[in-house]
This record gives sequence, structure tokens and C-alpha cells, in this order.
Amino acid sequence: MELTKRQEAILEIVRSNGPITSEQIADRLSLTRATLRPDLAILTMAGLLEARPRVGYFFSGKSPNRIVAQKLRRIEVGTVMSRPVVVQDDSSTHDAIVAMFLEDCGTLFVVDEQGLLQGVVSRKDLLKLNMGGPQDLQKLPVGIVMTRMPNIVTVEAGDSVWTAAKKLVVHEVDAVPVTRRVARSDGKDGLEVVGRLSKTNITRLFVELGEST
Ligand code: ADP
Repeated sequence: MELTKRQEAILEIVRSNGPITSEQIADRLSLTRATLRPDLAILTMAGLLEARPRVGYFFSGKSPNRIVAQKLRRIEVGTVMSRPVVVQDDSSTHDAIVAMFLEDCGTLFVVDEQGLLQGVVSRKDLLKLNMGGPQDLQKLPVGIVMTRMPNIVTVEAGDSVWTAAKKLVVHEVDAVPVTRRVARSDGKDGLEVVGRLSKTNITRLFVELGEST
């Protein structure tokens, strides 16, 4: 959040002199208490100052950046994710390209007949196919180009968006499947795909957070 010059001055007074009453802050700034009231309310609501009755204001020790960080760590992937776009593992690369265009999404998740995650196909994977010369995309199965389990980076709906965004950056991928661990029919574990978290979701959230006051 951006603070006004007066709010910065109040923070500094409280940081060096707290706990301090609103009268004392007003005296130091040669202003009236009434003038300061909206600023004190904003600084308290933002979590930068804390107020105790009969004691006064004191500095919460939280910087504005730390407050933003705390907020990001509280927002769960499940609240910002998109619907997953999946193709079956016996689809052709041509089907994958069509799905990408029809669904307007750059990353597809490949699932088996039980709907469990097998791999990821990105735009670049499909472009790579063309490098070796013309191919019959109807005949080439998607499994040829996809990145396979267990090398898929995933998140869960209850993870924080910060954790998910960090994975996108560290692993240099555009999207991660949001998954839930389930028992497969053969008794082993598998990952059911419940959503998609992409750089677009993070950018949208960033814009929303920037709009809120
Ligand atoms: P693009 O092809 O649009 O640049 P990415 O940067 O997301 O897409 O993909 C780069 C490579 O990483 C591709 O080979 C893709 O298969 C793989 N990939 C994409 N998403 C994941 C993921 N969540 N986990 C593991 N590998 C992935």
C-alpha cells in the first residue's frame, strides 16, 4: 500500500515513541486529533499500527511488504484456479492442438481412462514436433511429446498461491495441474486433476490485489 507523507510521519512517531496517544501524536504534528483520526484508522486497519485503549498506539512491527506477503500466503490455489483442460492418453497430437485452440489454453493435462494424471503437453512440446520436418499429427500419439509422471510439478487446492507461483518460477513452466491424491483401481495412488493454475491466474490475482485499497 502507498502511504501519504502524513501517514509516514505518524508511523515514524509511533515507531520511535510508542506507545503514544493520539493527542501526543497530534501535538507533535501540530494538528488536531480530529484531523489525524482517518489516518490512524487507515494505519490500524492496514495492520501497521495497533491501538490499545488507555495505552495508545504502538508499531505492529509489520512492514507493508510483510502484510502483502502474509495475504498472498493466505490465498488458496482453489480460489483462483481455472478449470483443467484434459486429453486422454490415447489422443493424437492433432487432437491436442485442436483442444488447445478450442479451449484457448496453452497447457493440456493428459489423463488415463480413470481420469488420473499421466503427463503435461505444452505449446512448445507441440511446436517441437515440427522441427524434424512434416509429420502426420493424426498418427502421432500425445504420449510422444508430453512430459510424463513422475516428473510433473503439481499443487493442491489448499496450497497457497504464493507456493504455486514459486513453483511456476523455479520450474520455469507456464502452468501446473491442481491435483488430489486418490486410490487407483489397482490399489496404488494416483493424482486426480481438479484444476489448472497458470501464470494468467497469478497475473489476474496481482491486478485484483492492486485494485483493492
Ligand atoms: P511453453 O511450451 O508454452 O513454453 P512451458 O514453459 O509450460 O510451456 O513448458 C516447457 C516444458 O515443461 C514442456 O516440455 C512441458 O511439457 C513441461 N511442463 C509444462 N508444465 C509442466 C509441469 N507442471 N510439470 C512438469 N513439466 C511441465
